[in-house]
Order: sequence, then structure tokens, then C-alpha cells
Amino acid sequence: MDLDVLKFLIDNEEQIKETAEKNNLEPEVSLVIARILYDNKGDLSSLKGKQNYHYQKVIEPLFFRECEGPVGLMPDDEGNFVSSCVHTKYIDEESLLLSYEEEDFKCQNCRYDTQKW
Ligand SMILES: [Zn+2]
Repeated sequence: MDLDVLKFLIDNEEQIKETAEKNNLEPEVSLVIARILYDNKGDLSSLKGKQNYHYQKVIEPLFFRECEGPVGLMPDDEGNFVSSCVHTKYIDEESLLLSYEEEDFKCQNCRYDTQKW
């Protein structure tokens, strides 16, 4: 787990709060659990019982963000918005913090593609 990303998520709160609300979990509790994890350097064994549920539902998914692709989400034939990424789909660890900081969710390859244009 990238602790820099975790720190960003804790400092900025919104991502954690929104994800908690979507899962009908108490946002403040999710934030506390994120802080416990950060204080323990991301060691999952520091979480107990229901805290693990918050981790699985709220915190873990924030580390597996889909790349939106070089031109962002595009409608497919059925009108569903899908990623225009032709690479890995998930944002690699190196690009994840940058993606959150810039609110621009792209994997490393898509960032490279965009720069070439
Ligand atoms: Zn991509």
C-alpha cells in the first residue's frame, strides 16, 4: 500500500467519505480506520473485526482506480460510459498519487500517450 496515497486520501477526506456513503457506512468511522492504517504503516493486521469491512469496502477500492483513458470516458454503442484506456485499465501505483492530486485518472501509459499528441 502506498502510504503517500493513503495520506492524501486522509487529508482530503472527500474520496473516503463518498465511498463510505455509497456503501452505507459511517464516513467518520472509515476515516478513523484510514488513520489507524496510516499510523501502522499500512499494516492490515492492525485492523480488527468490522474495521476490516470498512477497509475492504472503502479504502481498498480507492487503491484500484480504473484508468479513464487518454480522452476520458467515452460512450460505447449502448451509451454506457467506458474507459478509453487501451492499456492496463487500472492505474499503476506510480501514477495513482498524481491522479488523485490532479483529479485526472490516467495510467502511466495513457499519460505518455497524451504527452505525445
Ligand atoms: Zn490508461
